[in-house]
Amino acid sequence: MRAHENIYISSLTTMRLGGIARHVIEIEKLEDISDAYGFASQFNMPVFVLGAGANTLGHDEGYPGVIIINRMRGIVEEPTESGPVRLKIFGGEPWDAVVEYAVNKNLTGIEALSKIPGLAGAAPVQNIGAYGQQVSDVITEVFVYDSVTYEFKTLTKPELNFSYRKSLFNTSGKNRYFIISITIELRPGQMPRPFYNSLENYISEHKLTDFTPKGVREMVSQIRADKLPDPRTTASAGSFFKNVYIDDRAAEKAVEKGVPVHRSPYQNKVSSAWLIEQVGLKGKLLHGIRVSDKAPLVLINESARSYNDLSKARAEIVSKVYDKFGYWLEQEPVELVA
Ligand SMILES: Cc1cc2nc3c(=O)[nH]c(=O)nc-3n(C[C@H](O)[C@H](O)[C@H](O)COP(=O)(O)OP(=O)(O)OC[C@H]3O[C@@H](n4cnc5c(N)ncnc54)[C@H](O)[C@@H]3O)c2cc1C
Repeated sequence: MRAHENIYISSLTTMRLGGIARHVIEIEKLEDISDAYGFASQFNMPVFVLGAGANTLGHDEGYPGVIIINRMRGIVEEPTESGPVRLKIFGGEPWDAVVEYAVNKNLTGIEALSKIPGLAGAAPVQNIGAYGQQVSDVITEVFVYDSVTYEFKTLTKPELNFSYRKSLFNTSGKNRYFIISITIELRPGQMPRPFYNSLENYISEHKLTDFTPKGVREMVSQIRADKLPDPRTTASAGSFFKNVYIDDRAAEKAVEKGVPVHRSPYQNKVSSAWLIEQVGLKGKLLHGIRVSDKAPLVLINESARSYNDLSKARAEIVSKVYDKFGYWLEQEPVELVA
């Protein structure tokens, strides 16, 4: 393991905010995990498991405990009797390297999740999703260290309670598990058409014909590069708010009020980006935080000096949307607090 003291959280998170973390421990082998938790409990300090910090917000007062990061990498192909290809991926592997590996083998299932920043270990936490795919569609199990029972465990898919941007790991099991590896199953072939609307529109606009996993990866990468900030150069945590999901009655009322509702047999979605645009905040700078003019769900830290600035910007957006439409926007990124 590699242990560090007094590290700025702003250097560990893509929103680049946050004061000093007392201890940061990088896990390089299985035995390091219980050592790291043991160290924290010996000094009665809280533990936060961090990945690449692409969905986590640091606070100005820092973190008075131990931040643990999974640095174990590797993608291992496991034999299956027939059909799918099973990949066991260590949590320290960058997620996009996993997608690249899969598309190079012509495997379908995660190509639309190309270029999502972060590590594979974080992928199940908020059940990452984009362009009609979500990681819960392909995950079969997750291997964890349980910090309550001090056991290594395999959690199978039914135990993971996946739904939109949710899983066991950010609900009832929050802060309990250290994700060591995830196992996914993919198949040779292609994503079924029609694709997600924005992908279909991009295909017609650019007259594209390659729908192989590699082809879809290229399209998605291009669309994302055109509208989303690159965390290497621009500070953000990606989409800052979740979309709003409403029941059928609320959907009828919304439509009567002129709010567009994306209806499907399973859910009714109101686009939070649309709501933010309607209250006139698209492209606006609030307390050093820019509401992206290309993707208004994304907040960019242009010149915020503190978490407090972000907090003020967030409050302004949330209250403007609530005052006009009556929906409370729910935040997507996680708060790094004790
Ligand atoms: C520009 C940009 C675009 C984005 N686009 C998308 C998108 O299209 N779709 C999408 O779903 N998300 C998107 N995100 C959000 C982010 O990429 C994902 O949430 C990603 O999974 C975060 O990975 P991370 O390693 O950075 O996690 P972190 O931010 O470090 O952690 C996120 C959460 O996971 C927990 N965690 C991390 N690693 C582990 C582990 N090993 N064990 C247990 N818990 C762990 C943390 O405690 C925290 O609760 C985007 C972010 C950015 C900056």
